[in-house]
Amino acid sequence: MEHLLKVEKIVVHHSEQNQDCAEFIKVRHKKRGWEDIGYHFVIEKNGQLKKGRDEKFVGAHIFGYNKNSIGICLTGNFDENFPTQKQMKTLLKFLKKKLKEYGLEPKDVVGHREFPGVKKTCPGKKFNMDGVRSKLKN
Ligand SMILES: [Zn+2]
Repeated sequence: MEHLLKVEKIVVHHSEQNQDCAEFIKVRHKKRGWEDIGYHFVIEKNGQLKKGRDEKFVGAHIFGYNKNSIGICLTGNFDENFPTQKQMKTLLKFLKKKLKEYGLEPKDVVGHREFPGVKKTCPGKKFNMDGVRSKLKN
């Protein structure tokens, strides 16, 4: 697998499935013919952080930007439901750690839908990206 270049963004996704886990996502992605799960990390409803694709390799989660980003997916469909408090707690802790690790700022945390040309709602209409970024500023 190809190695990541400079990490400039951390991209947040939802899995679009309400009953879901990291293993199921991996199975779905492999069915698409991918070598491994497309995301680097998954946060399940109970707040557990699961490792996906090895962080040194290019993921498969954001068209045109995979070489310069880390992809994290929260399980659930956030067009329909809100993420759980446990998921959000884990996400914020994770993002703070990664921003430090990669020398990035809160503005570098972006939702899939915020990339130009993306028509998806990912990480879901009920997922507040500005809220996440503002919590990372403290
Ligand atoms: Zn997405």
